[in-house]
Amino acid sequence: METTLVLLKPDCVAGRKVGEVIRRFEEADFQIRGCKMFTLGGELLKEHYGHLVEKSFFPELAAFMQSTPVVALALAGDHAVERVRVLIGPTDSKKADKGTVRGDFGVDVMVNIVHASDSNENAALELKRFFAPGELFDYAMRYTTTPAS
Ligand code: UDP
Ligand code: MG
Repeated sequence: METTLVLLKPDCVAGRKVGEVIRRFEEADFQIRGCKMFTLGGELLKEHYGHLVEKSFFPELAAFMQSTPVVALALAGDHAVERVRVLIGPTDSKKADKGTVRGDFGVDVMVNIVHASDSNENAALELKRFFAPGELFDYAMRYTTTPAS
């Protein structure tokens, strides 16, 4: 079992795809251990996209990421880091297969619906970045979810 960090980006939130994208993660057997909505502050964004701060597109990326609140999810499951990356598809939405989150809903290489951690090391850092210890939950199924009729 691993936990990975997902951000539902402004095009997901403003485009009302939050429910559909979370549905896909739950359908794929991931459990939500944490969930919160907030606007990304400039410092947090620079930390999160530290590997891109020097790129010419960073100001545009920052404006996009701060254009609406985002939703952060902590998702737990078997090989969560790799499997979530497979579910969302490659960075460039135009190159992403249909059936992947980015392939179905993303626009281009920047406006691509979701962020997901790309390694176990980064998942640990990113979970810490976006969730305080008390905001991550461990729980088990104790009631049946099969409707009576
Ligand atoms: N991005 C961009 N232009 C690029 C590469 C990346 O606008 O040429 C944005 C895009 O939103 C991407 C994010 O920066 O999701 C982080 O880039 P990274 O290479 O880490 O891709 P990811 O891990 O999100 O697939
Ligand atoms: Mg990345």
